[in-house]
Amino acid sequence: METPADTSTPVCPLCGRPIPPGVPQSRHHLVPRLKGGRETVLLHHICHKEIHATLCEAEIARDYDTPEKLLTHPRLAKFAAWVAKRPVDFLSRTPGGHRRRH
Ligand SMILES: [Zn+2]
Ligand SMILES: [Zn+2]
Repeated sequence: METPADTSTPVCPLCGRPIPPGVPQSRHHLVPRLKGGRETVLLHHICHKEIHATLCEAEIARDYDTPEKLLTHPRLAKFAAWVAKRPVDFLSRTPGGHRRRH
């Protein structure tokens, strides 16, 4: 996949891939709103989901309030390395014999 050097295309701080218009994406509060956080970052929807599947709000607020810190979590680091090799519009894991519970 080409990744054009277009500065208007945001880059996902979790996986480092661009987030072109039309790709499933969502905003993440670096500090959960409940804790008074206002700063958000744009992420791929799949990356955002992975953060919340891995960490609860309290953990995010306490230990993972920046993208850099999120990437120090072993599961998220592994996910980022894995998803970085997928197309940017990739939305779901296709695991063999492992089903999501919801
Ligand atoms: Zn991403
Ligand atoms: Zn979030």
